Amino acid sequence: MQDQTQFIFVTGGVVSSLGKGIVAASLGALLKSKGYSVTCQKFDPYLNVDPGTMSPYQHGEVFVTEDGSETDLDLGHYERFTNQNVTKLNNVTSGMVFQEVLNKERNGDYLGATVQIIPHITDEIKKRFTACLEHCKTDILITEIGGTVGDIESLPFLEALRQFTFANPKSCCHIHVTLVPFLEKAGEFKTKPTQHSIKELRGIGIHPNIIVCRSEHPITPNQKQKISMFCDVDAAAVISCSDANSIYDVPLMLENEGLENLVCDTLDLKKAATDMSHWKDYIQTMHNPTLKTITIGIVGKYTELSDSYISVVEALKHAAVANHCKLEIEWIRADDIEELATKPFMSVSALLIPGGFGKRGLTGKIAAAKFAHEKNMPMLGLCLGMHVLAIEFARHVLLLKGADSSEFDEKTTDPIIHLLEEQEQVTQKGGSMRLGAYPCKIMPKTKLSKLYKRKTVQERHRHRYEFNNAYKEAFEESGIVFSGLSPDEALVEVMELTDHPFYMACQFHPEFKSRPTKPHPLFEGFIAAAKTFSGIQQELF
Ligand code: GLN
Repeated sequence: MQDQTQFIFVTGGVVSSLGKGIVAASLGALLKSKGYSVTCQKFDPYLNVDPGTMSPYQHGEVFVTEDGSETDLDLGHYERFTNQNVTKLNNVTSGMVFQEVLNKERNGDYLGATVQIIPHITDEIKKRFTACLEHCKTDILITEIGGTVGDIESLPFLEALRQFTFANPKSCCHIHVTLVPFLEKAGEFKTKPTQHSIKELRGIGIHPNIIVCRSEHPITPNQKQKISMFCDVDAAAVISCSDANSIYDVPLMLENEGLENLVCDTLDLKKAATDMSHWKDYIQTMHNPTLKTITIGIVGKYTELSDSYISVVEALKHAAVANHCKLEIEWIRADDIEELATKPFMSVSALLIPGGFGKRGLTGKIAAAKFAHEKNMPMLGLCLGMHVLAIEFARHVLLLKGADSSEFDEKTTDPIIHLLEEQEQVTQKGGSMRLGAYPCKIMPKTKLSKLYKRKTVQERHRHRYEFNNAYKEAFEESGIVFSGLSPDEALVEVMELTDHPFYMACQFHPEFKSRPTKPHPLFEGFIAAAKTFSGIQQELF
């Protein structure tokens, strides 16, 4: 639609965790609804080369892209809000930038020059601001700069941004997302932190076009005037973005404030009408007060930090809305199950075991799988969850007491889950994860084929271990159907129990592909089964 790409940069002020990612993603959704093509990307100031090695405790979930990159969880929001896949080029870290510059230095590429933050690091950052456009042309590129203005780490990014804006003044729009606290005792909003943050940003040479104020309650026109006067930004370009019940309310809240039209004015973009009707339908169903509540138990290791499983939670929410029910999540710490026995399972209508690494909590997860199996309670296993379901089946149905995954016990007598030979070799050299989208062939006349209504699908992976085919026949003879396989049938992708309403597990991560207005079929089927189960649950327990 546009000849030239326009650039929107989103920076953050005062504190972290303001939801810059949600603001960037919401703006993406609004501009896309006007007919523009939009891509979002994130620049993270930390020194890890990618978030793949970071603990979910510290950093939340690792989001996996179609092309197999391990990225920040905000990229998941971008995909869910804009319904547009991102790639490995859409998440850049300082670590990545420094590594590239240092490699070039070692290679002698700088021909003896003194290698410095400016211009070498900033040049590399600027190159990456536009790198994703080489593969995919887009009308609007939204770049979120992680961290908070004033941090030492984000300085090279902001300096690169200043230089980039100087070179492309007509094509850049700067949005600063900041905190406006409400002091309960004084009964008023305080704009001072915002004033300071803008001062800091202007000191770096970036003048924001729009200020998005994050606050507990909507800020008043008076506060907008005050911020406008102190910060040299039009009062109309001071946007209120207060705490929302759901992240999916945010695009409509920002539309109400006219954010996307302000951006169009700044960038001189034609203003086609914003059409969020599909989104409004979703929100309306989501907030319908007559919806029946379904409680899903998630049995995991990182249950204290729900961000660790954010895509799983979002996928469940999407599927709940599609099933016209309200979702309640019960976090069940796998470690607690041994002590509490089956008590935590009594109050839920279905159980889900998400992905994970390492042995911790395994006994509890197997107990959960056994309970769902025996009580006909719906169960969905994702990645490590599939390994758990397979071990449970081998131990309790095939009576292979020592059945295990070689991830947990290298010397197990029955390695139901193991490393493939070629995988074993690369693992010894480090690396080796099977990452990104792979095709999965769906076996006809299975529960899986009823859900997908397709012969093959592409789903995203992030794992090393696979189902051991030596046990396939024994599983099949005892009631398991391998309903999803790799096209050459060498790898198990999905297994399901025939004699059960919904006992299914997949090697891939379907949660990464669910969208609010396009829920994932596996999650949709899972919630539908939970809904049915909740109707008969009373009589069972
Ligand atoms: N730890 C398992 C593996 O590496 C499962 C990984 C996951 O659940 N993402 O195969």
